[in-house]
Amino acid sequence: MNLNKIEKIFSIWKEQNPHPKTELNFVNNYTLLVAVVLSAQSTDIGVNKATKALFEIADTPEKMLKLGEKNLKKYINTIGLYNGKAANIIKLSQRLVDEFNSEVPERFEALKSLPGVGQKTANVVLNCAFGHPTIAVDTHVFRVANRLGFVEETTPEKTEISLMKRIPKKWQTHAHHWMILHGRYVCQARKPKCGECKIQKFCEYFSALVQ
Ligand code: SF4
Repeated sequence: MNLNKIEKIFSIWKEQNPHPKTELNFVNNYTLLVAVVLSAQSTDIGVNKATKALFEIADTPEKMLKLGEKNLKKYINTIGLYNGKAANIIKLSQRLVDEFNSEVPERFEALKSLPGVGQKTANVVLNCAFGHPTIAVDTHVFRVANRLGFVEETTPEKTEISLMKRIPKKWQTHAHHWMILHGRYVCQARKPKCGECKIQKFCEYFSALVQ
């Protein structure tokens, strides 16, 4: 896809939603980190339901440690893989207290060294908490980027590298959210809603369909 089309698509997304945000609920950087860890292979809606009560009593690493792993599980047991996620949240909270003055670090490598935090989670936190121009590639971003024709890649890792090269800097900060929202509500996995898609005329997948 040429740069002109990429510009047009992002201009349309910006017009529709100038300040896109994560749909995960959080009250500070720590609760953002916890919510993103919980969201792996789970829906934001499911995570928000569980964290509503949790964050009222545990919105800092210290309070989470005081709550303890066993009690934490009671709050998050509706979320998939909650046993492993609870263990990671307790371990990462301890690391934040011991090594980072109880603050969420603003560095990719430091974030990635925390239990339960991979490439995607580190990028989401850097973007949502600190405004870094990172593009975290989840299932929606991977699908939308490759379907539209922004990139042609076979893995999330390669997609991230190519997106960072192809998407102009001025769009990078919000690119992740615009692609997630587009994938979640319009360009859905099984049945993309091409008929109501505002960027249809720039989409390579759609133009191949109608040829
Ligand atoms: S036209 Fe269809 S396939 Fe292309 S981005 Fe829109 S919804 Fe997705």
